[in-house]
Amino acid sequence: MSNENFQNMEKIVVPVEGMTCASCVARVEKSISKVVGVKNVSVNLATEKALIEFEKDKVNFQEIIKSVEDAGYKIGLDYQSNQFHDEKKDIKTKNVYSSHELQRDFMIAVLFTIPITFLSMSMMWIDFDNLISLNTESINKILLILTTPVVFISGKRFYKAFWSNLKHFSADMNTLVAVGTGSAYFYSMMVVLFPDLLLNQKQEPHVYFDTSAVIISLILMGKWLEARAKHKTSSAIKKLTELKPEFALVKTNGGEQKIPVENVKVGDIIIVKTGAKIPADGIIQIGNCLIDESMITGESIPSIKSVGSKVIGGTINKSGYFEFKVTAVGSSSLLGQIIKMIEEAQGSKAPIQNIADKVASVFVPVVIIIAVLTFIIWLIFDSPFNIALINFVAVLIIACPCALGLATPTALIVGIGKAAQMGILVKNGEGLEISNKITTLIFDKTGTLTEGFPQLTQIITRDISEEEVLALVASVEKKSEHPFANSIVKAAEQRKIKLVDAELLYEMPGRGIVGKVNNQKIIVGNITFLNELNIKFDSWVEKAEKEMNNSGTLIFVALHDNINALMKFDDKIKEESIAVIENLKSMKLKVGMLTGDNFQNAKAISEKLNLDFFDAEILPNQKANIVKKYQSQNEVVAMVGDGINDSPALVQSDVGIAMGSATDIAIENSSIVIMRNNLTAILSVIKLSKKVIKTIKQNLFWAFFYNVVCIPLAAIGFLNPMLAALAMSLSSVSVVTNSLRIKNFKEK
Ligand code: ADP
Ligand code: MG
Repeated sequence: MSNENFQNMEKIVVPVEGMTCASCVARVEKSISKVVGVKNVSVNLATEKALIEFEKDKVNFQEIIKSVEDAGYKIGLDYQSNQFHDEKKDIKTKNVYSSHELQRDFMIAVLFTIPITFLSMSMMWIDFDNLISLNTESINKILLILTTPVVFISGKRFYKAFWSNLKHFSADMNTLVAVGTGSAYFYSMMVVLFPDLLLNQKQEPHVYFDTSAVIISLILMGKWLEARAKHKTSSAIKKLTELKPEFALVKTNGGEQKIPVENVKVGDIIIVKTGAKIPADGIIQIGNCLIDESMITGESIPSIKSVGSKVIGGTINKSGYFEFKVTAVGSSSLLGQIIKMIEEAQGSKAPIQNIADKVASVFVPVVIIIAVLTFIIWLIFDSPFNIALINFVAVLIIACPCALGLATPTALIVGIGKAAQMGILVKNGEGLEISNKITTLIFDKTGTLTEGFPQLTQIITRDISEEEVLALVASVEKKSEHPFANSIVKAAEQRKIKLVDAELLYEMPGRGIVGKVNNQKIIVGNITFLNELNIKFDSWVEKAEKEMNNSGTLIFVALHDNINALMKFDDKIKEESIAVIENLKSMKLKVGMLTGDNFQNAKAISEKLNLDFFDAEILPNQKANIVKKYQSQNEVVAMVGDGINDSPALVQSDVGIAMGSATDIAIENSSIVIMRNNLTAILSVIKLSKKVIKTIKQNLFWAFFYNVVCIPLAAIGFLNPMLAALAMSLSSVSVVTNSLRIKNFKEK
């Protein structure tokens, strides 16, 4: 994607109302993607939301709204003024079929269905006539009266949807329910009102009011239970939203003032006392504290913070008093971005869903054909009309593909939510699905396998003092975000060396940096970099190099195109690295490392970690090429990195994983972001992904399996339509419940 294009693209998540099954999803997607300017759309049945990617200045929202409405659904866009260009404006929405209304409709249905069932069953009793002094005909009339509200009040939603579908020559699960219950009801009504028309003299009048009422009740029950369970699947987002406190304590001229969190502005100074929630992102100005960030990072040990440290809105001050300056609020704060990211991820799709979508799109028409064939064949084989009809109804009801539409999205939503609780941001469903198939993991070294806080352990200089070199180099490195840059600046600060004004000429990721102080050019970087710049390596340099032993990273400093200093840095391997890599290898994964650092140091680390392979002294795009090389050997490659220099490789890999304190560019280019700086989260990602995919497969199996087995049973008359309705409702509920089990996933 070109940069220009990229800037013009925007994403939005909007609610869609009225969808009931997988085929609705396909229809809404089709209608939105037709609109000019829409680049991508993904509709999620479980969240009832659409993720739309569009070109800002091309798209007309009114057109989207109209197109969705034409398809028979409603989209929650504020169409007045192409409003959602403005992020801050909330999109007004109303859920047409809230679980509340479902509950009401279900209750009404049950209220009538109980007497209907009782009366219908009692007619089959032999002693019935002695109990009630009514004949069959009168009872049938009562049944008609009782069933009518069930069909037309509680069942209204099915008929309404059926009708709007019909206008577009399409069909979905509503069609099946409406045609099924409708034919049972209208047939029975005809029997009651015009018995001569349908029945010959010998035949007993048989009605199916109970069938109709029981089916509607059961399906509403299923939908209601499903809505409640679905609600639970997205609890992760709710929990995150609840992290934000209601009030903030702002420092004013005279003292402090309690204001609603919405009124906090960037630049405000906020006071946070022990036990309080931090209301926004910012930087500590005064004080020390211990902050619990587990809700964001998944890291259970509170972190110590002092002046200059960043604080995250939504986290809790365990102990201490501090004042911080606000740097971001609302949707641009970290919490706001995380929520947006999770919402987008939960609205996205996993490739595995394509199977379900494809099946669903042909399912309903095929079912209708099977049902009609069932009906005709029963008649051909000389069965009474009512038997043929009831088997027709059974086929329609059992075949509803609702469970199919829920199989993937519910599992993804729970999985992505669960990941977020562990401080793992999964940016899309695809990332989660592919994590399950990883065969090769490639780690970046600095900041990923190592702590990323290299310590300056040795300096050798010529014609210049250590202090002078540090002053010059630190002044230039101050402009860089590289871990070495931070260490050099820290080292200078520790030695109380004053920094000077410096100009950054350029920085080469993975190589080094060139700056200017007082018109003096300074080159700082690794061997490759200095070689490229044609800096000579004389005997003094070679001697100095030998003096600094082989572990650790050497960095060269050249002034006036002459090497004047060598610095050695030691970066500790992360405590957990060895165990994590051992664990990954025991899962039969290939594990390797790519680094821009020198060969010796890379080799030492690789041996310590027992890696399968490593490459050293390489440049950012070479990292990507190496990823490509493994991909061409049919490996599914995950790249784990943290820096700008890892971005090309993160993009190239099948799953890009950005770690801990990753740079924004690395985060942007990866599909999974780990909020804490701890590699064990990688194991969690892989295990969680396996669990989610396993759940999806179970869900799909049960959704398909039950349809495949039950449709023939219904067709040959072995399945009572009421049982069919029960089975169908239970299958949806069990799919959602199965997905909810992912919540029990535990990180070891
Ligand atoms: P890794 O691939 O292990 O993450 P990088 O690619 O970030 O390491 O860096 C590779 C090498 O480039 C470093 O070991 C260092 O020698 C050099 N380097 C990169 N950036 C800088 C910088 N700002 N200052 C000095 N040296 C740098
Ligand atoms: Mg790195």
